[in-house]
Amino acid sequence: MPTDPHREMRQAVVETCRRMNALGVNQGTVGNVSARSGDGFLISPTGVPYESLASEQVVAMDLDGGWAGDWRPSSEWRIHAAIYLARPEAGAVIHTHAPNATALSCLRRDVPAFHYMMAVTGGASLRCAEYATYGTPELAAHMLRALEDRTACLLANHGVVGFAPTLEAALALMAEVENLCRQYILTRQAGEPVILDAAEMMQVLEIFKTYGRQGEPRS
Ligand SMILES: [Zn+2]
Repeated sequence: MPTDPHREMRQAVVETCRRMNALGVNQGTVGNVSARSGDGFLISPTGVPYESLASEQVVAMDLDGGWAGDWRPSSEWRIHAAIYLARPEAGAVIHTHAPNATALSCLRRDVPAFHYMMAVTGGASLRCAEYATYGTPELAAHMLRALEDRTACLLANHGVVGFAPTLEAALALMAEVENLCRQYILTRQAGEPVILDAAEMMQVLEIFKTYGRQGEPRS
């Protein structure tokens, strides 16, 4: 039997799915994880609980949506493919229905720079993409617009998506975005937040670039 060139990356996708749920950034099997591999990507299959997910069930797809094998890819593969096509810096994509981000997505509003850590999105806000039915090319197009100069965005009445060069970094991004969404909901419950201005956020983004993105920047 030929050896599988994707073996290690498939296993990394499975582990990221499990860690995503353990971190509380996703629930059940609705989220999906992918990693760029060669000319295409590897994506979690549809409808398989993460506890029983085996690496051979991770689906190898090309960027046009072609795939082979016994396991169907996640029904949301189009948003993954769209990111790999449009954003060469993307090495991994994670989409979840994390509770706090999803709650905010239902307001169909951008989350402003209420906290300096909002710069993890690559800009001064977490945009909310226009609504379209899940799994459709329209949703992927709306998402790409909301991701302009950003690495994460909300999907209206749906959830959240983000990408990074690696699975590890994408998972850290999604955990931070969910944390920020929770803090924004708490802030709005307590009162009206003071929003950081564009000049301050530019400065934070500069500091983030200097120190890289290994977790919390030094303060
Ligand atoms: Zn979804």
